[in-house]
Amino acid sequence: MSEQGIGTKCVQAGYTPGNGEPRQIPIIQSTTFKYDTSEHMGKLFDLEESGYFYTRLQNPTNDAVAAKIAALEGGSAAMLTSSGQAANFYAVFNIATCGDHVVASSTIYGGTYNLFHVTMRKMGVDFTFVSPDCTPEELDAAFRPNTKAVFGETIANPALTVLDIEKFAKAAHDHGVPLIVDNTFATPVNCRPFMWGADIVTHSTTKYMDGHGAGVGGAIVDSGKFDWMAHRDKFPGLTTPDDSYHGVTYAEKFGLGGAFITKCTAQLMRDFGSIQSPQNAFILNLGLESLHVRMPRHCANGLAVAKYLKDHPKIGFVIYPGLEGDKYHELARKYMPGGTCGVVSFGFKGGRPAAETFMKHLRLGAIETHVADARTCCLHPASATHRQMNDQELVAAGITPDLVRMSCGLEDPEDLIADIEQALEKV
Ligand SMILES: *Cc1c(COP(=O)(O)O)cnc(C)c1O
Repeated sequence: MSEQGIGTKCVQAGYTPGNGEPRQIPIIQSTTFKYDTSEHMGKLFDLEESGYFYTRLQNPTNDAVAAKIAALEGGSAAMLTSSGQAANFYAVFNIATCGDHVVASSTIYGGTYNLFHVTMRKMGVDFTFVSPDCTPEELDAAFRPNTKAVFGETIANPALTVLDIEKFAKAAHDHGVPLIVDNTFATPVNCRPFMWGADIVTHSTTKYMDGHGAGVGGAIVDSGKFDWMAHRDKFPGLTTPDDSYHGVTYAEKFGLGGAFITKCTAQLMRDFGSIQSPQNAFILNLGLESLHVRMPRHCANGLAVAKYLKDHPKIGFVIYPGLEGDKYHELARKYMPGGTCGVVSFGFKGGRPAAETFMKHLRLGAIETHVADARTCCLHPASATHRQMNDQELVAAGITPDLVRMSCGLEDPEDLIADIEQALEKV
């Protein structure tokens, strides 16, 4: 059978019930699993056989949902985490540890920026942040002998810059390291980063994948294409025996397709324990079943709102990569021809006070630290998610004090625009 379409995968991938089995993915709400002999369990602990023994390592509900996400991205293996933060931390820390260095796009989510710039620095991992618009030469110059990965977001939250995936992948591969792409905003419905050379994809499933503001979660997907053994010296964690796991060498035992996720599960999930609950994985899967139906509506609403705001006399600028004339429109057309996302950022001629007045008067659009929900919501990043940053860091992250981020939900576009219109009248 030829490869299924993205919609069929959203609905069906990851779980195929046998005769008389539940049609919906069962929630295996059990911490542990029972065995007849200690010998059998020993084989599981040695990773000699696959099977379940403790939900902190693996759970059948989570595995089914992870398999669906792997299928959506076209990857070889995937795992769920408790949040997008955990996914990005694990994805990077799985290959970059104390004494290592990572190149990252400067316009990334504020939480990820803090994780890299503050917390992982304390762990001895150094980061160089580069503009997503940098030239290949500038990007090249950011690498060091101890660089272990490159990181960026397909569509950055909230700057809405579009990553030139091919440019970043080429630089990463020229230096023998993988490109990690956070694909939260585009989702695999709109962009498949592996097609363009990315090696690892991460998600905050909290956003469009869940889509209903119901469960915090994350996911990591491996393309199975990065050859760890070809860069043996750079990635000792994958290419030399793991003493903490019975001397297993992940890249040898699990090959290209399995090494990264197996190490990440067996080592990082074992030790840090940021698992997604099976209950949340079930809720996430309900969201995934309609992802391909919801994304076009989010995009259509985003575009309608962006077009309306663009010509409004009180609005200073609109950032929406789906909008013709946007700085990133050409990149968006290349990497996500079917649409970008439902998030629109814009600024007010009246500056920060105008932004605050506008938000106060919205009726449908609620003030929330959230995006990608069925219900429209908005946020003033300079006073919320990015308030730790100084002005210089804000500008590097693509944020000005008057910027409002609006996440267009699934309501009727006429109602959204009417709501925006009446709030703008108060400004
Ligand atoms: C929200 C978000 C995260 C963090 O995810 P949580 O699920 O909130 O931990 C990471 N990356 C991007 C692009 C996000 O939008």
